[in-house]
Amino acid sequence: MTNCLFCKMVSGDIKPEVVFEDEKVLAFRDINPQAPMHVLIVPKLHITNLNVLQDASLGGHMLKIAACIAEEHGCAETGYRAVFNCNDDGGQTVHHLHLHVLGGRRMTWPPG
Ligand code: AMP
Ligand code: ZN
Repeated sequence: MTNCLFCKMVSGDIKPEVVFEDEKVLAFRDINPQAPMHVLIVPKLHITNLNVLQDASLGGHMLKIAACIAEEHGCAETGYRAVFNCNDDGGQTVHHLHLHVLGGRRMTWPPG
């Protein structure tokens, strides 16, 4: 996708602060962090949102990476949140699948 922000990060046209990368995913710090740790994990393939994710193993991989990143940031025991926003009511603004990983502060429920 030529006009997709996260595809441009995957291709290297835009350089985020990368915290993890493998053959399937890129993980980088959110530009507008909502917690002391706020990382986005994106698949390298353009997938618009959770509704069209076919590859369940990719979703599982993203979740495992989220747990590893939380552990590396010292949040595994204190706790953290992993969130997929989907479409307008879910608050999705970038239409390339991404998993938010937030930690380092006490979260509230329900979310806003
Ligand atoms: P969502 O609202 O769930 O689609 O999340 C999109 C996220 O992308 C937001 O938390 C933004 O702060 C983040 N974001 C937007 N532009 C950038 C950027 N250039 N680098 C890193 N994160 C970004
Ligand atoms: Zn994309």
